[in-house]
Parts: sequence; C-alpha cells; structure tokens
Amino acid sequence: MFKEDKQYQLINSDTIKSGDEFEHSYQKLNLDPVCRNSLLSNAAKMGMNYLNTIRKRRVYPSDEDLEIIKGFVEPLPDKPTDPELTIWMLNEIGSKGTVANAGGRYFGFVIGGSNPVALAANWIAGAWDQNSGLEVTSPVNATIEKVTNNWLREILPVSPAAVAGFVTGVTMANFTGLAAARHHLLKRKGWDVQAYGLFGAPVIRVVVSEDVHGSVLKALSLLGLGRERVIKVPVDFEGKMIPGKFPDVDDMTIVCLQAGNVNTGAFDPASEIIPYAKSKGAWVHVDGAFGLWAAASNEKKYLTEGFEFADSWATDAHKWLNVPYDSGIVLCRNEENLKAAMSMSGAYLDQSGSRVPYQYTPELSRRTRAVEIWAALHSLGKKGVADLIDRTCRYAEMFAEGLKKAGFIIRNQVVINQVLVSFGNQELTEKVVREIQREGVCWAGTTIHRDELVMRISVSSWATTEEDVLNSIDSIIRCAGRVSDSL
Ligand SMILES: *Cc1c(COP(=O)(O)O)cnc(C)c1O
Repeated sequence: MFKEDKQYQLINSDTIKSGDEFEHSYQKLNLDPVCRNSLLSNAAKMGMNYLNTIRKRRVYPSDEDLEIIKGFVEPLPDKPTDPELTIWMLNEIGSKGTVANAGGRYFGFVIGGSNPVALAANWIAGAWDQNSGLEVTSPVNATIEKVTNNWLREILPVSPAAVAGFVTGVTMANFTGLAAARHHLLKRKGWDVQAYGLFGAPVIRVVVSEDVHGSVLKALSLLGLGRERVIKVPVDFEGKMIPGKFPDVDDMTIVCLQAGNVNTGAFDPASEIIPYAKSKGAWVHVDGAFGLWAAASNEKKYLTEGFEFADSWATDAHKWLNVPYDSGIVLCRNEENLKAAMSMSGAYLDQSGSRVPYQYTPELSRRTRAVEIWAALHSLGKKGVADLIDRTCRYAEMFAEGLKKAGFIIRNQVVINQVLVSFGNQELTEKVVREIQREGVCWAGTTIHRDELVMRISVSSWATTEEDVLNSIDSIIRCAGRVSDSL
C-alpha cells in the first residue's frame, strides 16, 4: 500500500516486502542473527555515511530538505513495516532535516558535536540496553559511574570529595543541585522538605545574577522556590556579578553563581563571593554548563579558581566534552545532602552494592550515560581534554581577530570559546546573521547582550579545524558584504 504513497517513491523497491511477509520480521530479528545483523550494520553504515559526508553539506537544512522531512507525517501503520524500511526512512528522509552540528562549522548556541569514541560507546551501550537505576540492574554502569565520578573530581573545579549524578543536562543538574540545597538549609532548621514540602516551611532566599541562565530559574520554579522571588545581583558588561553590589546573605540563602556566561563566557568572581557566602552559612550552587571545563586547561584554569569551594555544581558533558545527547552532571560536596534530596521509598528496590545510581538523580530507570563520559575521558586523557579546550579557545580568538580586522565589532572579552559580534547596528546584524544561515557554510545565531542584538559564535566542537574557522570567517565577511550591497 505504501508503495503508491508519493513519499516512498524514492525507495529502492527490491528491498520492500509485501504486508504479510513483515508479520514475521520481529521474530526473525530475535532469532535470526543474519536478519538482525543486516539491520544493525545497515544502520551503522548509514550513521557512518552521514558523518563521512557531513563536511560537504550545508550546516542547516535547505528549504527543499525541510519539505522532505514532511514524509514522516503519516498515519500509524496498521500492520508491521519492514524494519529495514523503518531505518531507511530515518536515513533517507530524517537525515535531511538534521542540523550538522556533528560537523565542524556549527557555532550556534553552545553545542558541541559527539566525538567518535563517545559515539561508539553510545552504540555499544545501546546494544547493552542497561537499566542504570540500581547496581543490581547494571553492575557495569555502577562501576563506570564510580570511576567517572573520581575522574571528574580531578578535572573539574569541585571539592575532592564531590559525588556525581548523571542526568540529562544542566537544566536537570541545576534542579538536582538546588534540591540538595533546599534539603540542607531546611533540615538545619528542623524541617523535612522531602516529607512535608514547602507549605509552612522556613523561608529560603535565592540570590542569582542579572545574567542568570533561564534553566536556573526553571529549576527554582520546579522546586517551589519561585523564579520571581530571586534577588538579582547587578553584573558588569561581561555579565560578571559586581562583588560590591552583592547583598547580605544568611544561613537560609542559596547563592547561584555562573562559571561561563552563555553569551560572553565570563566567570562570576567566585574567589570574592564564595568565602563570604560560606562564612554566613549560605549554600553556593554553580551553573558551569560549559565553563567548568576550562579548569582542564593550564592556560584557562585561572578563570575557575575559587569555584571548588561551592557546595554544588552543574555541568554538561554534551557541550564542551562532546559526548552524545543527553548528558549533564550534577556534583555535590556532601553526599548525604544529595542522597536525601533524591531519596525515594519503595521496598522492592534492591539497594545492594556500593553505588546505587538512582540515589544521586531524579530518575530511577535511565540509560548508561556515564559510559560515554568515561569513554571520552579515557580516550582523551587529561591532555586530550586540555587540548580540546585550548584549541577551541584559540579558534574563538581567530574568529575575533579575523572579524575585527574585517571592520566588525567584537563586543566581549574573548576569555574562552564565546565571541559576540556586531555588524554596526541591530538591524544590520540580524540581516547578516540570516544571510550567513541562508548561505549554509556555517551557522551562528543571535543573542541579546546588554539590550543589544548581536551574533554569538560558540566554538565548542572537537571537530572544528583551522580551515573550518577560516572558511567560516570568509563566509561571514561575504554575507556581510552582500547585505551592505543590498542596502
Ligand atoms: C546550556 C546551558 C544551560 C542549560 O543546559 P542544558 O544542558 O541545555 O539543560 C544552563 N546554563 C548555561 C550557562 C548553559 O550554557
């Protein structure tokens, strides 16, 4: 029936079986290794082919490609579909609608691209299909989480005893760290927030910066701490908290600092704020989605000094470490605070083993995402992570120098991998960015920095080469020229 359907005209009809033949496909996939291997190796080949051609294609899908992905819009099939066809659709139709951030010329938001070792680990872990919630459901996951936790302590600016939970991203890592904070502050006042919630509880104040990331506010809203109740500390042009404007805090205050401003890459002055906040008994949480990784570099380490004295930290592995989505990490100085905040009752849950992974995260069942972090760290080593940070920071400087030489304005101090560019005024900048995106050589987006729309370049991918940077600078200059010619 689907053969008549227009969207399948592209399919090599030899590979398609008629309706009834498909009925047995799933049994075959179970019991016939030849059939299963064919499906899985085809999928792997398609994935490899995708990566092999990614450098030659546009970074953002063309309008025609965006039409092609509408091929997914169809009714739920009544009968089984040939599994080869299901996977074929992803490759032939789906890949057309992908954004090529796995290539080297995507500089939008703060998005890396999986490195092949981490991707290979993801494929193996996918085949393992482990439930990572308990040690008894996956001894290998519990072991790899422990090892990865130890390695992260060495590489990130955290307490030497910090415990890690492996969550989906920094939004959840912020949520989890702030849940530990909420637990700790209220427990000290004799209030069990896990049992009784916030109704009638002593009041917690939360201090954030004016440039706080929306995910921190979202986490506060989910935790009942409210995103509008926060006290916002004024920031300088780079987005760093101004220490002289920091409010008085007490032992019922949570202070949220930023290591790596999402626009400028700037770091809050941790060495000035954390000792004061801690002396008053406040809890300090750090949103270090990408910036925390600067500690791996000898050149950039100075930026992260003092952050190790915080109480909880949130960071992403899917950004600068370049592991597949979704992968965030929460770290907490005190294991008991994290475990108490994430506690769950359920007599059937086997708590045996030396690390029961669900005790550190909001989720119970989940995939083995620490496997990819382990693989990235194992294969790169400390030197490889340092090189990744240094290289991408160097490329950010190349962007800044190249674009400044071409007459454009670099808005920020390029301290790590983030570059903010203005092409003169907001309208012009917006037009140039659209033109860059339309041309497709590279992709950068806009952001609002100190009330002005600017272009943001984030060099976060292991795959970016010097040639990519030079070609992208050429494209940006060409696009800006076209826009000004058209005025
Ligand atoms: C990306 C980012 C976040 C959100 O992280 P997700 O992994 O997308 O949830 C939070 N804070 C900062 C500074 C970020 O760069």
